[in-house]
This record gives sequence, structure tokens and C-alpha cells, in this order.
Amino acid sequence: MKWSYHIATIAGTEVRIHATFALLLGFVAWETSSAGGELSHVLQALLLVCAMFLCVLLHEFGHVTAACWYGIRTPDITLLPIGGVARLERMPRKPSEELVVALCGPLVNVIIAGVLALIFGLPTSLEDLMNDLSQLRQGAWTLMGWNVMMVAFNMVPAFPMDGGRVLRALLALFTGDYVKATRWAATLGQAIAVLVVVGMVFGGWFDRSPMLLLIAFFVFIAAGREAQMVAQEDHVRGLRVADGMMTEFHTLREDSTLRHAVDLLRASSQQDFPVLNDSGTVSGMLFRMELISSLADHGPAHRVRESMYASPLILEPDLPLNEGLSALQQSSMPTLPVVDPVTGIIVGMFTAENVHEVVLIRSALRRQMI
Ligand SMILES: [Zn+2]
Repeated sequence: MKWSYHIATIAGTEVRIHATFALLLGFVAWETSSAGGELSHVLQALLLVCAMFLCVLLHEFGHVTAACWYGIRTPDITLLPIGGVARLERMPRKPSEELVVALCGPLVNVIIAGVLALIFGLPTSLEDLMNDLSQLRQGAWTLMGWNVMMVAFNMVPAFPMDGGRVLRALLALFTGDYVKATRWAATLGQAIAVLVVVGMVFGGWFDRSPMLLLIAFFVFIAAGREAQMVAQEDHVRGLRVADGMMTEFHTLREDSTLRHAVDLLRASSQQDFPVLNDSGTVSGMLFRMELISSLADHGPAHRVRESMYASPLILEPDLPLNEGLSALQQSSMPTLPVVDPVTGIIVGMFTAENVHEVVLIRSALRRQMI
């Protein structure tokens, strides 16, 4: 994630912290001191915020440890002021595994709250909570409340919260249909998001917590995207990269000019061009954006070699289409070349639009079969 910095690596998972976190600490320090707090109060408030985020980190490690049991690695966790994000290599597709991975995060918070309650006891009344003289106990109770809130918030049955995953996993276990389970869970998540917005507009919740509006919006989008992604994965199951690639395309030579590239760009709907070296193998890609900016900077006589993206990621035609798609997304390039591993010759171009077309065709054919 951009603007995030490495702070530690724990059991093979890198822990990163987002730069905006400094803003949160600054805001807490400013708020405490402007309310008349002394330096010691400011330090205590900062310590409490750090302890809260340690609980967020432990929550994420709950997911990471559970994922690890099923052989899924987690390359990194990023701490943001709104919470933590663990980037798992992949989500488990077996409902029972997803259920365990999703539950292990909130379980950590239940354990933390339980341990704090055992050590410090529970406040018997609100006055007790406000007026207890022991600052350590007050801090522990705040932390306990924070962990209870984290459990409640994360267990709301809406994607991308853990509760949404738990619900999807349970529905998939009972119905045996992962795609349908995702659609139902996503629809419920979106319905909750809409209800929250309605509550904010008509129930006056907005004044109490304006952040909720942002969260509801985020949940609505994320739930829809999850359903779409799972449906797409289902449509391309069993297909290979070769089934979703473009097979008619133009190529450029390293010593071609940008003028030649622009002629091809204008004459066809192709936007990105594989660049071949003298032996006929792919040595780079010339993407439309780079072509246009190089043209502006260097003129039409400039050689493609100097403007191309050298040594791009290359896909093999037999790779499962799902894996090709995630490689394309991770590469953040619009197009990847597909090369025959035996001959070394380029056989296709892989783009998200082409895969989308395959999905449309497959779902149209399925509908016809029903
Ligand atoms: Zn979680």
C-alpha cells in the first residue's frame, strides 16, 4: 500500500503502518492538550491509542495464524487509522476454512477483553467507570470496551467485515453453493448499509457518528464487488489463459519508430503492443499511455526500444485463467503477453476486457442451456 512504512516482520508477515497514522496520533495529542491535559495526560492518551492498535494488530494476526493452518501465507498487514488490513495470499474457498479464518480475528478480541476483565474486574456502574481513581484500571476498561466494540463491529454480517465472511461460509455450508451464498451475503450486507444510511438521514444518527456514512458507503461497494468477483471466478472456472486471450494482434520491433506504433494504434482497436527483439521473442511492452507521452517528449522518429516497458511479466497459455487474472491485477499493467514456453513465441495478449467478454459469453450460453 502506498504511503505505508515497514515497522516489523513477524513470522514471515511484514507489518506496515500507514503515514496517516501519524495524523491520528497528532490529533489525539492536540485534543488532549487543548482540553487542558498536562504532558503526562497526553502521553497516557497516546499510549492508550497505541494499545488499541496493538489489539487491532493482534486481531489481524488471529486471521493470519488461522490462514497459516490451511497453508495460506499472509505477505503483509497494514495498520490504518480506521483499522488493520491483512493481505492474505488468497481467501480459503472451503466454507469451513473461511469460517475459521474469519472467526479467529474477533476471537482474539474476546480473549483480550476476557483477560482484562479477569485482571481488572468489571465496572459495576457508569459512575464507577468515570470516577475510578486508578488510571491504570480506567485505561484497562477503555481497552476492554474497545475490544468489545471491535467484536461487535467486525461481526456485522456485511462484507468486507468478518461477519460477512462468517455468514457466507455458513450459507455455503448449508446450501453447498458458494456463488449463491456470496450473492445472498452480499445482498444482506448492502441492505444493512442502506438501512444505516436511512437511519442516519431520518433517525438523526448523523450527528452522533458521521463516520458511519462513510463506512456504510464502503460496505455497499465492497459487498457488490465481492459478489461480482466470485461470480466471475465461477464463470471462468476450468478455463485456461489460452481460452481468454486475444489471438489477433500486431507486434512491434525494438527498432520500430513511434510513428509506426501510432499508425497501428490508429488503424486498429489494439492499445498495447508487444515488442519483439531480433530473435523474435518478447522483450518488452509498449502501452498506449507511454506511447503517447513518449511521442510528446521525443517525437515520432524515436525508437520503441527506449519507450517500452522492458521485461514484462509473461503468462503461459496453460495457466488457469483465474491465476492469469490475479497476476494481471497484481502487475497493475493493462495487458500481459502470453508466450508458448516451448517455442518462446508470443501466442496471445491477455487483458481484463477479454476475460470479461469470455465471462459474458459463458453466462449467456449457460442461460440458454437453462
Ligand atoms: Zn477481522
